[in-house]
Amino acid sequence: MKPDEFTAPVGSLWEASAPPDPASAALDGEHEADVCVIGAGFTGLAATLHLAVSGSSVVTLDSGGSGFGGSGRNGGQILPGFKWDPDELVAKFGVERGERIVAFAGAAPDLVYRLIVEHGIECGLRRNCGWLNAAVNDAAFALQASRARQWARRGAPVRLVDRAEARELLGTGRYRGALLDERAGAINPLAFARGLAAAAQRHGARVHRASPVRSLRRAGDRWRVETKRGAVVADQVLLCTNAYTGGLWPGLAQEVVPIHSLQVATRPLPDKVRTTILPHGHVVSDTQRILLYFRLDDAGRLVMGGRGSLGETNRDSLYRFVEDAARRLFPAIGNPEWEFRWAGKVALTPEHMPRVHELAPGVRTCLGYNGRGVAMATAMGKVLAEWTRSGDADSVPLAPVPLRPLPFHRFRRPVLEVITAYCRLRDRMSWRGAGRSEGPS
Ligand SMILES: Cc1cc2nc3c(=O)[nH]c(=O)nc-3n(C[C@H](O)[C@H](O)[C@H](O)COP(=O)(O)OP(=O)(O)OC[C@H]3O[C@@H](n4cnc5c(N)ncnc54)[C@H](O)[C@@H]3O)c2cc1C
Repeated sequence: MKPDEFTAPVGSLWEASAPPDPASAALDGEHEADVCVIGAGFTGLAATLHLAVSGSSVVTLDSGGSGFGGSGRNGGQILPGFKWDPDELVAKFGVERGERIVAFAGAAPDLVYRLIVEHGIECGLRRNCGWLNAAVNDAAFALQASRARQWARRGAPVRLVDRAEARELLGTGRYRGALLDERAGAINPLAFARGLAAAAQRHGARVHRASPVRSLRRAGDRWRVETKRGAVVADQVLLCTNAYTGGLWPGLAQEVVPIHSLQVATRPLPDKVRTTILPHGHVVSDTQRILLYFRLDDAGRLVMGGRGSLGETNRDSLYRFVEDAARRLFPAIGNPEWEFRWAGKVALTPEHMPRVHELAPGVRTCLGYNGRGVAMATAMGKVLAEWTRSGDADSVPLAPVPLRPLPFHRFRRPVLEVITAYCRLRDRMSWRGAGRSEGPS
């Protein structure tokens, strides 16, 4: 990234209403801390806050500022769970570990709610507004029936919504039905990130913006973290850089595939239109392979997201693709003025689960939230903090694993271009299979 990309506005809707970033100016001079956290997204800031509250001295550094990465740019959908069904997680990890992971992932939104309330974070929280996972066809709906049963068996407020109810809740009749998960909520994510940073600072943490870390190396039995004008010597380090991971630790960036997700937002819709779209305030993503996700913001803007580019820049046509999809789903919006367009990077792993590592004694990380990190990154930040304090790896629900860089990582773009084109084709076909000639995208 060019240096000014860390300070320039990203053009998001959230920037227009979030409070200013409380982070201090760039790190200058030599500092000491118990823990140095690299990356001020939800993972790094939740870790910082929990460490500071429990009495550790913490210095947190970000190339940009609080929420500069995915955390300040996302859809603000606080979703429970992973992309895997509960029973699949149990089959994958065994009953004891699997159920622990299911419970952890299911409870992640509650942690976000608790932090917001406990620390008085103003971020437009819509607690338990509910997430509709909208099914594009019968096959997707059948899978959701099984998923709903699995969560309901575990006491979670998750149920199936038939075509007629989905039409009413979504404000569009294009979907076959939906899964409704009432644990989910919504926030202005940038305001949440900045609120976490402010809370951490109130508990004594030092959070610095404009401080790209250039090197991380051993200094006796401690670690030395260097920026252009300063350094932190710390006993332990947390690397919380997710899709923005660079070359600080050999092989780490090669573990995940960074891709853009992008969003567009209309101007506030007129009342008579806005009341027809998501009238009960749900947040939504659909079951397409290249999915669409959408919600209204507090001012009544329709905010819609979809897949962006695999490279560094997002062409106009990628934004238009999502805008056209929004118009097809909700014809009542007409031809609105799109007030905001922005993008950020998500980190994908082949197994669709985050990876946790102890890279060396005292250096820990979690990355690869696969586009579902509002609740999970916050929860993993807390877990990383507790692990750092206790040194007990058994306290980590997702067991730490050895670093596994992806083979052929350098050639990921052409391979992913082909996979994306194939997925878009399959998505179009799945709408046809549902008896509609055209889906929203
Ligand atoms: C457009 C978009 C929409 C999304 N929508 C949703 C959604 O609705 N719901 C959901 O659950 N998830 C969503 N996600 C995913 C979610 O935002 C992420 O999973 C989550 O924010 C990851 O948090 P993080 O703290 O791990 O990483 P990030 O927030 O990306 O933070 C990493 C930070 O590391 C910093 N960094 C990197 N290298 C260095 C260095 N060398 N020195 C200093 N700092 C460094 C970066 O500047 C960055 O701020 C979305 C993501 C995007 C991009």
